[in-house]
Amino acid sequence: MMKNAGNDPLFTLTTGPVDAYPAVLRALSMPVWYDYDPAFLACFERVSRKAAAAMRTESIPLILQGEPVLALEAAAASLIARHDVVLNLVSGVYGAGFGDWAGRYCATVRELAVAYNEALDPAVVDRELRRHPEIGIVCLCHHDTPSGTLNPVDEIGCVVKRHGRLFLVDAVSSFGGMAVTPDSCRADIFITGPNKCLGCPPSLSLVAVSEGGWRKIKANPDAPRASVLSLLDWERAWLADEPFPYTPSVAEINGLEAALDGYLGEGPEQVWARHDLTARAFRAGLRAMGLSLWAARESIASPTATAIRVPEGVDEAQWRALAREHYGVMFSSGRGETLGKVMRVGHMGPTARPLYAVVALTALGGALNRLRAGRVDVGTGVNAAMAVIG
Ligand SMILES: *Cc1c(COP(=O)(O)O)cnc(C)c1O
Repeated sequence: MMKNAGNDPLFTLTTGPVDAYPAVLRALSMPVWYDYDPAFLACFERVSRKAAAAMRTESIPLILQGEPVLALEAAAASLIARHDVVLNLVSGVYGAGFGDWAGRYCATVRELAVAYNEALDPAVVDRELRRHPEIGIVCLCHHDTPSGTLNPVDEIGCVVKRHGRLFLVDAVSSFGGMAVTPDSCRADIFITGPNKCLGCPPSLSLVAVSEGGWRKIKANPDAPRASVLSLLDWERAWLADEPFPYTPSVAEINGLEAALDGYLGEGPEQVWARHDLTARAFRAGLRAMGLSLWAARESIASPTATAIRVPEGVDEAQWRALAREHYGVMFSSGRGETLGKVMRVGHMGPTARPLYAVVALTALGGALNRLRAGRVDVGTGVNAAMAVIG
């Protein structure tokens, strides 16, 4: 009998933190350089340039020394001045959460929200901006991970720019797994991290700031300086002859370089294609097993994570625990409003490989059958996934 209780997971198919690429793990174990060793100064500049190449943007992205929640809060603190009016677009837990940070730095945060299994409509954003010329900044979470749903970020970016407003995008769990870049969505601040689709451990953030974004930050008298929440402190730190505001996470920068080399070497389009194929194979299997998506429509389901609607009468925590204990497969729970309602499977970085769809289906189906005594046909699910994989 297969029983894995207490042992290491055999497969970490989560929505972040994710399993890291072996090359990243090797890079993390390199000697730790002094931060002002010329070799590390050159390394930091090189990695910053590689991040710009991966993000397909001219301006060199900032590498902040903490996982992306740091970058989200720092972006709010740096960009939003006390007299600003912010429009926060909400389709899930992360989108809603950003409103709390925004509200710390200005008096008026308007919220435009949809159900947490839905996506925002660019036409509705357009109407809101026409009605409210006082709105200066629009904030959006591209892939709200606890819902597994995507917003049409490029289209919304078009609308925001047509109205001449600033656009802040949380692309933490989408960048690197699909076609989205700071320029594609015209973001003034584009926040992502290496700990989702780039396959690194949680530790760093990447922040691309447009020229307009920098202008706004520099005009904001409240933008933090000499603070861990400061973006300004890091503006020039990527240059080998400029100082760091504080010690960077040396080992993690090595890990990030390995991840960026892997991403650029494989080719972003190829990387996105395997994320997409893995998600499609997994969803075909789910449907064949009689399970359904949390997303209202498959067209808004993210290629980097699938949120499954927990079947009636099933306890999500029990289901997830059984998959972990009996099959050694770790999945993610929902969060906030989706907690208990969804089970989430990540297709991110090293786990965005089509055969992991089969692993996920067998563990999910097997665990469900152990809970409910044989009501799911795992074989049918595997066949449906294999028909997509080919
Ligand atoms: C993972 C993630 C973050 C970072 O937050 P943590 O919960 O601390 O990992 C931010 N935004 C989105 C959309 C994410 O998926």
